[in-house]
Amino acid sequence: MTAKIPLAGVIGSPIGHSKSPQIHKHWLKTLGLRGDYVPMDVSTADLEQVLRTLPKAGFVGVNITIPHKEVVLDIADLVTDRATLIGAANTLIFRKDGKIHADNTDGYGFIENLRAGAPGWAAASGPAAVLGAGGAARAVVASLADAGVPEILLTNRTRVRAEKLAQDFGSRVTVVDWVQAGNIMDEATLVVNTTSLGMIGKQELRVPLDGLRKGTVVTDLVYAPLQTNLLIEAEKRGCITVDGLGMLLHQAVPAFERWFGKRPVVDSATRAAALR
Ligand code: NAP
Repeated sequence: MTAKIPLAGVIGSPIGHSKSPQIHKHWLKTLGLRGDYVPMDVSTADLEQVLRTLPKAGFVGVNITIPHKEVVLDIADLVTDRATLIGAANTLIFRKDGKIHADNTDGYGFIENLRAGAPGWAAASGPAAVLGAGGAARAVVASLADAGVPEILLTNRTRVRAEKLAQDFGSRVTVVDWVQAGNIMDEATLVVNTTSLGMIGKQELRVPLDGLRKGTVVTDLVYAPLQTNLLIEAEKRGCITVDGLGMLLHQAVPAFERWFGKRPVVDSATRAAALR
């Protein structure tokens, strides 16, 4: 009972909205593990000093969220190839030798959520249409390419950002102009919204959805609200829809396992804990 209690947490600014504490605390409790998980509002100016100090207080790692996901790569001592390619990290492991190890589990969370929510979806079944080219899109594209999707049709309001992403990820990514976004739906077997459009407090996603076909898998990274207009409209058209909350839950699994030593499962109780 004298060993330090392992601590983890999430660092961002602001941080009050984060659902990660509910998720990790739920797993600690249900798995009967010692430990705790705390939200921390830290400015970019203080980030490095805080990260170097936390291991001394018993922290085994932290999640990193907006606005620090990119800048943290310059602070970490070791960065996985995946995080380097994505250009952002969401998970840090504080190693016993004092080194900070950065990884990105968003792509893992995305694919696991898709597999759980649309078990009939096969990566090789056809092109994926990806709306948006921000940090989350980079993780999604990386995981789709890894899973074996033959072509990724990528569209973003700021075209140059999509072109940079395509350059980094290779010939499987085809950039389509944002005004053509509606036209790529009928070719795709999977449609992913990675923009922040449709989120509470943001504008609606106003892309024409007439091209959506019955049976197409449609998923939204936005999870507040849980049922976005995109998902509601897709369901009306007979599509298979997958909400974004599961991605948040699944991306937390590898981090929890690394920090606390047990692999948690994502089930309905985990979803309920996140929504509490
Ligand atoms: P980001 O890097 O800031 O990218 C935002 C994206 O949204 C860009 O593609 C941006 O286009 C687009 N966008 C914003 N306002 C727009 C508008 N008015 N019209 C058209 N496009 C617009 O953010 P991010 O980190 O990629 O996150 C994107 C969303 O994914 C957020 O809602 C976030 O909460 C969600 N997310 C969810 C999970 C999960 O676990 N479910 C994980 C990560 C992120 P421009 O390039 O033209 O600005």
